[in-house]
Amino acid sequence: MRAARPAFRHGAVAIASLLLASASAFAAPSAPYDLILTGGRVIDPDSGRDEIADIGIRDGRIAAISTNPLSGGKRLDAKNMVVAPGFIDLHAHGQDPVAERLQLLDGVTTAIDMEIGTLPVADLHARMQGKALINFGASASHICARLQILSGKTCADSGPHQVAADPAMLAKGADPAQEARIADLMDRDVRAGALGYGLGIEYVPGAGRREIFRIFQAAGKTGAPVFTHVRSRPLDKASGVPIAVVQEVIADAATTGAPLQIVHIASTGLGDVPTLLELVKGAQVHGIDVTTEAYPYTAGSTAIGSSFFSEGWQQRNGVSYDAVQWPATGERLTPESFERYRRDQPDAAVIIHVIPSEIVDLAVTDPVVSIASDGVPWTTAGEHPRGAGTFARVLGVYVRDRKLLDLKTAIAKMTIMPARRLEKVSPQMARKGRIAVGADADITIFDPAKVKDSATFETPMQPSVGIRFVLVGGTLMARDGQVTEGQFPGQAIRSALGQP
Ligand SMILES: [Zn+2]
Repeated sequence: MRAARPAFRHGAVAIASLLLASASAFAAPSAPYDLILTGGRVIDPDSGRDEIADIGIRDGRIAAISTNPLSGGKRLDAKNMVVAPGFIDLHAHGQDPVAERLQLLDGVTTAIDMEIGTLPVADLHARMQGKALINFGASASHICARLQILSGKTCADSGPHQVAADPAMLAKGADPAQEARIADLMDRDVRAGALGYGLGIEYVPGAGRREIFRIFQAAGKTGAPVFTHVRSRPLDKASGVPIAVVQEVIADAATTGAPLQIVHIASTGLGDVPTLLELVKGAQVHGIDVTTEAYPYTAGSTAIGSSFFSEGWQQRNGVSYDAVQWPATGERLTPESFERYRRDQPDAAVIIHVIPSEIVDLAVTDPVVSIASDGVPWTTAGEHPRGAGTFARVLGVYVRDRKLLDLKTAIAKMTIMPARRLEKVSPQMARKGRIAVGADADITIFDPAKVKDSATFETPMQPSVGIRFVLVGGTLMARDGQVTEGQFPGQAIRSALGQP
């Protein structure tokens, strides 16, 4: 991180001091507050603050933080609780009310689909604005752009999983003119509010290296980040599985200046995660802006009809049919049932038990890896539990029960690290992921002795426990496992690139 950080840090410091200046202008000490969070242990990884304090909230922002009691406003008792910035999930595919509820109860206040994304992003904004429980947003989708250029269709025509949208289109190569049009279409959506460039390269076997490079070139010019699920691993050992496919995107970032986040490094790297982390850290040391993320589970999930399951998937992942679980029934698959489901319900998500537990531990606890859920849309009530339990699982299992992470580091991985990843493209994110005067009052208050995920592979829609209160823009949206009805404070998080 060290070498990659300076540009980031300077930007963040400049924005933070602006916030402080403007906040103090309207925060007279005697002014009343809309809400006061009293007596909680306030942990803000950005400033290093870790102390018992009151927080005064006014007009959706944090107006005061004080170790002396604040008065003049409605009070919420946070004694014996941890008061943290609301969790930020940059890898959330379920942008709908069901997914939002479960994420809210897991402490998430901002959920963005940066991996696959959408296009046009204006459709997402129109669909969600005024109806969102938490903040939302998306990257410009490579798959959707490609669908439009190569097939004349849009993602509005496809099901919940664009990765299985149109197998013929995904397998087809693009010519140089089409490559330019795909990059241009994504670029226009970034200027219209999409937060970066979303690439699921493994799902697009037809995309050549030049097509991907063109998108990185566009990102290098706008400075909006590329988030990518890397290319399918080559099967031959000689090319260094899966190192080669990660080297491709790091080389593209190095040669274009595009900021890059490699998504879900544990499921991508499996046994090669230690080497992939060396690549990421080496790139950072040499000044390349590369980051990565992971979810805390030993299984992945994707659509059964997607290219993840193309010829050779067993060898690439070191597993067989019985590693694949069918969510609707919980059954493990056989060659027969696998072929039948892949043919008849290609759009259905399956769970793949494939990631060694020591690899998950390594990824979740490594200092350069942030936390992101990769939660998929809930269509059968049996999908992967990560969409419901990721954040409480890190706090309950990794911090409290197994003591593999300290609390402040864990909170940093789910707040300030993802906020910094997007704040250069979206100034809104410079007000999130922090407990600071002037920051948005997106706040998660949890009981460190009780916080825990409840979602399992058998009952994945169980909400997390121990999340006491969740505030979104100053509105109390969750209280002891209950979601506030009839309130929709969630805002679209947009890139500011198209704005004058
Ligand atoms: Zn992925």
